[in-house]
Amino acid sequence: MDIYNFDKRQIPIIDKYDVIVVGGGTAGSTAAIASAREGLKTLLIEKYGFLGGSSTASQVMPMMHVNIESNPASSIDKEIRKRLMNSGYGAKDPYGNDGWFNPEMMKFVLEEMFLEYGGIILYDTDFIDAIVDENTINGIIVNNRSGLNAIMGKIVIDCTGDANVAFSSGVPCFIGDEKTGKNQAISLRFMIGNIDLIRFQSFLKDIGQNWGLDYPLIETAMVWKSGFPLESIFKKGLENKEINYEDGAYFQAFSIPGMPGVMSFNCPEIPDINDSINAEKISYSYQKGREMIQRLYKFLKKYLSGFEESYILSVAPMIGIRESRRIRGKYVLSINDYNNRSKFDDAIAKTAYPVDIHGMRAEYEVIPLKNNEYFEIPFRCLVPLNIDGLLVAGRCISSTFIAQSSIRIQPTCRATGEAAGIAAAHCIKYNIKVSEIEGSDIRKIMRTYGYNI
Ligand SMILES: Cc1cc2nc3c(=O)[nH]c(=O)nc-3n(C[C@H](O)[C@H](O)[C@H](O)COP(=O)(O)OP(=O)(O)OC[C@H]3O[C@@H](n4cnc5c(N)ncnc54)[C@H](O)[C@@H]3O)c2cc1C
Repeated sequence: MDIYNFDKRQIPIIDKYDVIVVGGGTAGSTAAIASAREGLKTLLIEKYGFLGGSSTASQVMPMMHVNIESNPASSIDKEIRKRLMNSGYGAKDPYGNDGWFNPEMMKFVLEEMFLEYGGIILYDTDFIDAIVDENTINGIIVNNRSGLNAIMGKIVIDCTGDANVAFSSGVPCFIGDEKTGKNQAISLRFMIGNIDLIRFQSFLKDIGQNWGLDYPLIETAMVWKSGFPLESIFKKGLENKEINYEDGAYFQAFSIPGMPGVMSFNCPEIPDINDSINAEKISYSYQKGREMIQRLYKFLKKYLSGFEESYILSVAPMIGIRESRRIRGKYVLSINDYNNRSKFDDAIAKTAYPVDIHGMRAEYEVIPLKNNEYFEIPFRCLVPLNIDGLLVAGRCISSTFIAQSSIRIQPTCRATGEAAGIAAAHCIKYNIKVSEIEGSDIRKIMRTYGYNI
């Protein structure tokens, strides 16, 4: 057996792959599917026992609309939506967003698609370190039930959300708002079951919520001092000391296709935690989040019609991180690209999703996108500086804090994942380095698969 010397220890090299994708979340599952679709021997490493990352483990749903007419999606994204829709676990709302999905079914669909292309998954496996030689990544060290092992790969794709592989390899990274160093607010999402959704919807109408959707797709929200009809009810809860002010800092809920009587809550936001790569603070956030969820649940059950017989169905196993480390790549997407509606020859994704920052006010000039205006993301944002053999996809691609707040939504992360998987295959097919890829070639391939980019 081959041996790799890691930190004064000799550990076995257990296998060799064309492509290793680290992190089987929103971008990672797509990257892995795209790589396996090209016929490459592809390994996907995931620390949980299922795929989907934020979309399943953090219960983040629905996917947002990219706010471009017809909601263009990359080819694998389209196939995921189609499979969910065909099985009754996806839905399209009247505003044309077909990104509503059932998180449990998402786990099945992602796994099934990757396995159909012959992909190999290692679940319950933690990425520990990168194997780097002469500024090129050649593999990774993982830890799982089999112990500490090395796995070699011709190309590694970092889809950990936190740029863990890039950071370990020595890629320069950004963190937080450039002015304050702070990260966006963190949320611990949860689900409530056995809600009488029809009664809840008429209750919302009775209190004056004249926006949103109709049963079975229901949504509601409340933010202090923003004029939401639910605010008077939250105020009552506050006066009666049943909730705290922090519990209503951001409140939002959506029903879920294929889960009658269930709503997913995009809250609570954990107060005063703006450091998403601090282990102690994240650990505290889970505890604080559960404390807030218990208060919120009791309050909703008491005050909202339709919640009388409800119960807490689940609290997300993975806390919701909106933004953390971002790589410094060949191109850094910035607010100028948003404001200028930038287009690129090597574009691999496009969006008109707004700047969406939680938990703080960022002081930057933002020129809101109007109808039919959008900007593009160049392939170069996926290519890190200093290290070859590595691609990065998902929310940690090369961008400034404020630009990231617009591109972090799931459809865009999926498009970056698909581009990375295709690019890995391109390197292997033409025997070129990641640093030598012409991004416009990747764009062309994405088009041939049916992405309108
Ligand atoms: C609270 C919240 C609400 C949001 N709301 C919406 C919304 O309504 N609609 C929308 O479209 N987007 C929304 N977003 C944004 C979107 O969900 C995320 O930005 C996107 O899913 C991130 O995708 P990703 O692939 O980069 O990361 P993830 O999907 O988080 O995937 C990262 C994966 O890497 C794995 N991983 C990490 N480290 C390791 C390691 N060391 N070893 C092995 N595996 C590892 C994780 O387990 C995970 O599976 C929201 C985000 C949050 C947090």
